[in-house]
Amino acid sequence: MSFSREWTLTAQTSIWTGDAYGKTERLITTGLLGSIRWWYEVFVRGLGGNACDPSDTRTRCEGEKHCVVCELFGCTGWARKFRFDVLNTTGKAQTQQIGKGTQFQLRFTPLRPVVEEEWVLLDLTLRLIADYGAIGGKTVFKPSNEEGRETKAHHRDYGLITLIQRPPGIGRRRQALEDYIKKTCWQNPHDGSFAWASLSNFWCVNGEYLARQDQTKSTFNKVIGRPEPERQSSRNDSWLAGSQGESKKVFSFKCPERTFGFVGSDSVTYDTIRQRLEQVWGKESVSNGKFMTGQGVLDKLLTPKETM
Ligand SMILES: [Zn+2]
Repeated sequence: MSFSREWTLTAQTSIWTGDAYGKTERLITTGLLGSIRWWYEVFVRGLGGNACDPSDTRTRCEGEKHCVVCELFGCTGWARKFRFDVLNTTGKAQTQQIGKGTQFQLRFTPLRPVVEEEWVLLDLTLRLIADYGAIGGKTVFKPSNEEGRETKAHHRDYGLITLIQRPPGIGRRRQALEDYIKKTCWQNPHDGSFAWASLSNFWCVNGEYLARQDQTKSTFNKVIGRPEPERQSSRNDSWLAGSQGESKKVFSFKCPERTFGFVGSDSVTYDTIRQRLEQVWGKESVSNGKFMTGQGVLDKLLTPKETM
């Protein structure tokens, strides 16, 4: 059996792993793992694979014939391939919520053979989260019917991390990954309502944030197109805002500044988002490679010369 591999991280903000009832004190490792899985799905879809939505009981995988994500993370009738631990700096289990500035380690210990491509995808996923995304209880990305939920504590400035050490010797050949994803999918899973959650729809701007000052002056609302009181709603607006029980598609963090999201509905393209961001931040901030598309992110993550 192969050895465990560890990723060492620092929390730039607190990390939300609480449950639906708002308990935040304890670290809920399944919440953290659920978030890693969600981004792994994003990566797999971005490389041309399919990934089921494990929260959709009608379409998710079951048993031996499953998608490439379930192959590593498990599904009903197919056990997860690894043991997952979150450790503090003394090597003991982290039991409290991870606060700002805390250093911690994610340890993956194989219980069954984990192939090299899975390690690579896991590594890429964690780097994607650290450099362009955010980690946290999967509730962050889940639909909610609550009014004004964006002002709730757990939707604000939680889950930014810095990767400070990766396991050595993990490669990153794109072709090998695409081949692996193609040959490992035993069925054609339904992406469910998360088909949009793909790296091919992803965008990110580091160093800028959208403010949610109040009802009338929210640059966040401007970008997602949420109607100000006097404006009419439209279909593409509600898709980005995530109304009607859907996840929203734009996420913004103030400290440190980061804004990312997804395009993918018929009417919301990269151009739509770019134009809206430009209106809010000015031309400069979305030019010169500052507005990164999923393709740009993928190229960056797969660049061999990048060290660390
Ligand atoms: Zn699956």
